[in-house]
Formats: sequence, C-alpha cells, structure tokens
Amino acid sequence: MNENATRIASTSDETPASTVDAGRRGFIGTAAGLSAAALVAPGVFLHSVAAAPRSEPVTDSVRWGLLIDTAKCADGCSACVDACDRENGLDLQEPHGSESKWEHQKSVWIRKVKLQDNQTGRITNLPMMCQHCEHPPCVDVCPTGASFKRADGIVMVDRHLCIGCRYCMMACPYKARSFIHQNTSGQLTAVPRGKGCVESCNLCVHRRDHGEESTACVDACAQEGHGAIVFGDLKDPDSAISQRLREIPSRQIREDLVLNTGVRYAGV
Ligand code: SF4
Ligand code: SF4
Repeated sequence: MNENATRIASTSDETPASTVDAGRRGFIGTAAGLSAAALVAPGVFLHSVAAAPRSEPVTDSVRWGLLIDTAKCADGCSACVDACDRENGLDLQEPHGSESKWEHQKSVWIRKVKLQDNQTGRITNLPMMCQHCEHPPCVDVCPTGASFKRADGIVMVDRHLCIGCRYCMMACPYKARSFIHQNTSGQLTAVPRGKGCVESCNLCVHRRDHGEESTACVDACAQEGHGAIVFGDLKDPDSAISQRLREIPSRQIREDLVLNTGVRYAGV
C-alpha cells in the first residue's frame, strides 16, 4: 500500500453548507503550511510529499499518460481502485443515506468496467478513469475555468474556482468525474477535497510535482503481480510507455470523438 496520506485537521460534519466554500479555501491555506511528514496514525510515516516540490514550472516537454493492457487486468481484482481511494482520500468518505443511494453518490476516480463478448463469452476488464484528453470537453464547457489542462497533459479541477455546476460531468464522455455530495471529515494535505466540488483522476499530480515517477494504481497493480498499467511520458520515445506502445496494438476508447486521450488500452 502506498501510504501517501497525511491527514490534517478536518472540516466538521456540522459545517453549514454556506460556509463550505470559505472552509475549503481556509483548508487549502492551512494544508499548504503543514509538514508533509506528519503522522497519519501511530507507527505510519509517510513518504512522497516529504520530497521537495518541483521548483520549475510545468512545461509541454512531457505528456503524461497511461497504457492499460486489459489482457493482464485480472477479473475481480480491485487493487488499482483501492489504491486510488487510499492515495486520494476517497476511502475517507463516510457513507450516508441508503446503501443504494451512497453507491451512486460516492466519488470514484477509477471504475472497473467489465465487457463480455456475447458470442465467445470472453470477458475484458477495463479500468476506466479520466482519459486526460488533449482536447477535453470538460474544459470547454466549464464556465469558471476550474477545469483545466496543464502543459504536461494532466486534466484537473481547481477547487478554488469550481462552483459545482457539474457541466463538466455532463460533457465527459467517459463518466470520469464525481461530485462531492457530503461534508468531508478527513483530508489529505496532498489531495485536498471538499463538498460541492467536482473531482477526477489527476494522474497522482502531487507525485508528479514532487518528482515521483509512478501512480498509485500502477504501483498497486505491479504489487499484485499483474503489471497491467504503465505510466509515463508519451512524448519520450525511450520511456517505458512509448516502448510498450510500439510493441503492442492499442487504441483509445471512443476514438471517434478525436479527443486524443492520454490513456490508451491494449487488448480491446
Ligand atoms: S476524460 Fe472526461 S474529465 Fe477527463 S479530460 Fe476527458 S472529458 Fe475531461
Ligand atoms: S462543476 Fe466545477 S469544474 Fe465542472 S464545469 Fe462546473 S465549475 Fe467547472
């Protein structure tokens, strides 16, 4: 398990909705000032964000992406989903309402989509997350500029600017975004979250900005022995992802939309 989790003082469950936005801003300011080497729980000490943050601005000299080999993605395995939840604090969500309601409301950054060929019975597992489109519809429709694409290809949400209108959720063809319905009772300094915002996979951007080479899902999949996901720089011909893309056939999901996604799939 990648314990990249540094908890800080939480917003209260009793926080009135009208103060959530102000609380979010305050939280982010507080978070920035805290040591990333704080303890999560007795005996658990944390790694990555303790490294010095990158001092250079993000440039388009790289384009980060993922290659997912569905032939290696095991049926029933949720290692990538679980690791993403831990890395980004989604496991801190507290269920509320009925079970079926909560199933629809909790934030999900990776979904395991299962496809079955009716003729052959062949099952394909498809981890689905934000595809980090080069031409992202979520950015096009966002009225506040909260949805944006970084120069290195990572598409994400600025939580200071998000007004929770959810246009981006409607525009995303991959159902990749989630709205935070509930008050947050726990937070991670590296991944601030807050009620009323939209969020999605950001390729573990906090790791990128502290010089780390991997993502939580990639690490977890490798630890399970599947190695179905490769992360890296699509612009570097020598990167592991570029080499693998040359070795095996791959495709974009919904290629017809011509979004030039940063996430590619093999075996589909
Ligand atoms: S997959 Fe959806 S959320 Fe991600 S960049 Fe594309 S349109 Fe935006
Ligand atoms: S929900 Fe937030 S990120 Fe999405 S379109 Fe509205 S303001 Fe932009």
